[in-house]
Amino acid sequence: MKILITGGAGYIGSHTCVELLNAGHELVVLDNLSNSKHAAIHRIRELAAGPLEFVKGDIRDTSLVSNLLSQQCQAVIHFAGLKAVGESTQIPADYYETNVSGTLSLARAMDATGVKTIVFSSSATVYGDPSTVPITEDFPLSATNPYGWSKLMVEQILSDLAQADPKLSVTLLRYFNPVGAHPSGRIGEDPNGIPNNLMPYISQVAIGKLPELSVFGNDYPTRDGTGIRDYIHVVDLSLGHLAALNAHHDQAGRYVYNLGTGHGVSVLEMRNAFAKASEREIPYRFAPRRPGDIAACWADPSLANGALNWRAERGLLDMVSDAWKWQSMNPQGYPD
Ligand code: NAD
Ligand code: UDP
Repeated sequence: MKILITGGAGYIGSHTCVELLNAGHELVVLDNLSNSKHAAIHRIRELAAGPLEFVKGDIRDTSLVSNLLSQQCQAVIHFAGLKAVGESTQIPADYYETNVSGTLSLARAMDATGVKTIVFSSSATVYGDPSTVPITEDFPLSATNPYGWSKLMVEQILSDLAQADPKLSVTLLRYFNPVGAHPSGRIGEDPNGIPNNLMPYISQVAIGKLPELSVFGNDYPTRDGTGIRDYIHVVDLSLGHLAALNAHHDQAGRYVYNLGTGHGVSVLEMRNAFAKASEREIPYRFAPRRPGDIAACWADPSLANGALNWRAERGLLDMVSDAWKWQSMNPQGYPD
């Protein structure tokens, strides 16, 4: 099947491209390279044979998207967007413009060209501060920052479109915490500037680019006092997209799934696992809680396990080993 991949040069998109090509799909990648580099496309091609056309462009350019879709595309996997929670509070209009207006532009182009299948990158952030864990898909939804609101708004928009068009297939994938890299070490997460997220931050401490890890809070009601999250290997997450397409392509309706492992890992557990796999010192100090953080968050992935016949198979050792391989083979990230 020919698939349009928006944001396919990015972290999760690039890994998903490799798995889709390996499964025999034909890809058109649309990315404006605002948070990625063209080198990622070369690396995808190196890891997986098969047809991949790259187009540098913006999802808000509805006529460009329509043009690409009209070339026999049958589905869209929609990764493109802005994703930094802190930044979204500084430049909220940019977040709504890219994430919400960008998705509307894409939806208009799908409508104009008769493409009926979309898989959307949502996030566990839509659960806000859950009252209990594990989290099932029917938990109440909320947001506390523009990034989270943009994900909730897009979920609502796509759900309304599915309601209005009996032929549309909408799958909302709520990712927990994607980490790790392709086991080859050729593609991985390449953040701009100082990373906000735990795994890339630890990686840069291990390689010596950053002096120490600040552990945000050691007084949470968790087993060691530090925050707990459901980290999922990016290759498992990518395979979840393949499973979603297989299950719901041409099956009209609106589907929503948690993509997580179902297991929580604390900040200290992650730091210790990374130190062991990399055989590097990872100095850390305890720092105040980060505003907006919650104590614990992990998925109940049983709906995806059953309906998609998908399950996260890679454990913590795979996540930290593969992240370290990527970091140590590419200390400066992708070349320009
Ligand atoms: P990423 O920034 O690496 O990838 C996003 C890609 O979209 C980038 O290559 C960027 O250049 C591109 N892009 C941005 N705006 C665009 C536009 N207007 N037109 C075309 N391309 C554009 O991010 P990622 O980590 O791969 O995340 C992919 C998706 O998954 C995002 O929607 C993100 O919100 C969501 N998500 C990510 C995480 C995470 O922790 N990484 C968690 C939950 C959900
Ligand atoms: N965290 C930390 N130090 C950092 C970055 C993150 O202690 O430099 C903690 C954070 O408080 C949370 C966990 O690591 O408990 C995961 O944070 P991340 O930003 O990776 O993901 P999210 O907050 O989106 O779950």
